[in-house]
Amino acid sequence: MGRQSLPRRVDFIPQTTYFKPTGIPLPQLQEICLSVEEAEAIRLKDLERLEQEECAQKMNISRPTFSRVLGSARQKMADALLNGKAIRIEGGNFEMALSRFRCVNGHEWNVPFQVMINTPPQFCPTCNTPSIMPLQPPGVGWGRGGRGQRHGRRGWW
Ligand SMILES: [Zn+2]
Repeated sequence: MGRQSLPRRVDFIPQTTYFKPTGIPLPQLQEICLSVEEAEAIRLKDLERLEQEECAQKMNISRPTFSRVLGSARQKMADALLNGKAIRIEGGNFEMALSRFRCVNGHEWNVPFQVMINTPPQFCPTCNTPSIMPLQPPGVGWGRGGRGQRHGRRGWW
């Protein structure tokens, strides 16, 4: 093998990323972490009902890999559902072809989703102006945050 595990392509980030069974006190609540690519595998296969081959292609992975991701996702969901555990959808090895940015001078570029999460762009890579804005809103309510609010600078231009 010796191949680096490439990020899986994901078209969709669920807006709700936490599911919790009712009636279980928090200290007793066990939590399962579903990665974003596992959620995507479930979405493609079980929601969109695509063939495994198609799913694998969409996610840019081999069929056996897809099958493994899907199996793990289903196993986790079953565990959560039947054993009353919470599910958190978070992290994983994936990339999104989203997040296009534009600067005040009209340059446009793409920012991989994972970069967005860790270090959102501050400057245009072409002309270095800080007057940039996303053309699409970044993922909603994603991750644990903890990045603190940015002060100052309301309005992009
Ligand atoms: Zn620019």
